[in-house]
Amino acid sequence: MSYGSVIAAISTPSGKGGVALIRVSGICERVFKPKSKKKLSELPERFQVWGDIIKNGEKIDDGMATVFRAPASYTGEDTVEITCHGGILITERVLEAIFTAGAVPAERGEFTERAFINGKLSLTDAEAIGNLIEAKSDEQIRLASQKSRTRLTEALEKIRADLTELLASVFARIDYPDEDLGDFTNEQTLKKLRKIKADTEKLISTYSTARAINEGINAVICGKPNVGKSSLYNALLGEDAAIVTDIEGTTRDILSQKLPLGRVMLNVSDTAGLRASEAADTVEKIGMQRSERAIEGAELIIAVFDGARPVDSEDNALISRLLPLSVPKIAVINKSDLEQNFTLSEPSAFDKVISVSAKDEEKTREQLAKIIDGLFTDEKLIAGEDAIVASARQNATLISLKEYVTSAIEAFEAAQFTDAAASEIELALGAISETDGKAVCEDVLNEIFSKFCVGK
Ligand code: GDP
Repeated sequence: MSYGSVIAAISTPSGKGGVALIRVSGICERVFKPKSKKKLSELPERFQVWGDIIKNGEKIDDGMATVFRAPASYTGEDTVEITCHGGILITERVLEAIFTAGAVPAERGEFTERAFINGKLSLTDAEAIGNLIEAKSDEQIRLASQKSRTRLTEALEKIRADLTELLASVFARIDYPDEDLGDFTNEQTLKKLRKIKADTEKLISTYSTARAINEGINAVICGKPNVGKSSLYNALLGEDAAIVTDIEGTTRDILSQKLPLGRVMLNVSDTAGLRASEAADTVEKIGMQRSERAIEGAELIIAVFDGARPVDSEDNALISRLLPLSVPKIAVINKSDLEQNFTLSEPSAFDKVISVSAKDEEKTREQLAKIIDGLFTDEKLIAGEDAIVASARQNATLISLKEYVTSAIEAFEAAQFTDAAASEIELALGAISETDGKAVCEDVLNEIFSKFCVGK
């Protein structure tokens, strides 16, 4: 990162549009000349003016500029945002004019990284902003909301305050063993440590819900041919993505799509039907091998059966195949609109069994969304209301924190007030600083901000 230098980037997506926005971390007087003849630096804060955009002394466009003064800007530095006409080439020319005047290209996420370094944002905020820009579902937007971030920051601050108080007391006990330090006893210290551990565990437990909402669940639809796998896939997608026929072996390769279903982002795959391989040609056999691999890597199995036909050896072979897998499994008995002749031989092999008609797409989606939400999210957790750990990085640092607190508890149980116990609490404090970003190394920052787009 070119910290200290003036950076500039196009903040709107590349492409043709009504206007484009260019962000500059400095007052680019030479590039933008207000029509009023006033200088940008003379304008009141957060004031927008119309003016000419100049490159090498020549007007190349006209547009609007907004001036933000440090520290009241996104990054905490002086900033100018210029909106020019939204053509691809003209926007690039305006950016070049800013570079000619001395600015350097901003790296990915550099504006947000500066905001973090200047104390305008916490790392929790910065990560949530990244998620908000990437959001593909309303639930993801709720999870990245300001309120959600504030709740998480408050929960982390509470753990830090408790640990700090505890550490001060422990040092006091070590330094002045004979002093009367009130009713601060070994039992109370242990009680406090156990409470911190429980609070940390509560936060850690929220991550699986956030992961299902943000990253998504890899779900594989499998079953023998003609049971309605592709129909179910199309129903979930709400479009005819997979070819549906009554010819066995129609789906030969794996089709995959990401779609929001209920609260969860589902990475769903439709696979080739699994049947006795003698019946299949070479291409279908390869498709079946791919299906097998997809099943191995799945986080959720959606096994489809034909409700109109009696259970047969191929259905039972599939059930036996799925039995050893530890991931959640849903048995979908399809074609409920027809007369039902199917009895699932081993319902206990599945976490849920439902009867659907893939032809009724909306109802099928609703039924599956409810079940999948129940399997992968905590219904009591409300995105946008509760403290939810939404990043894998924060979850990992909280797990370390929990381990240090566990070691501190063990140290206290073994020998009460010792340096060993104090040093575990110090390590736990270090872990909370990594979680909320008060102490993170540059590599971690680079990793986080490199996922942002240029201009953010
Ligand atoms: P796949 O081979 O398992 O992917 O099955 P398809 O989705 O291609 O469906 C096989 C046949 O079953 C097609 O003729 C579908 O129209 C039919 N089918 C699928 N789902 C239903 C359903 O819910 N009800 C009825 N009546 N037919 C269905």
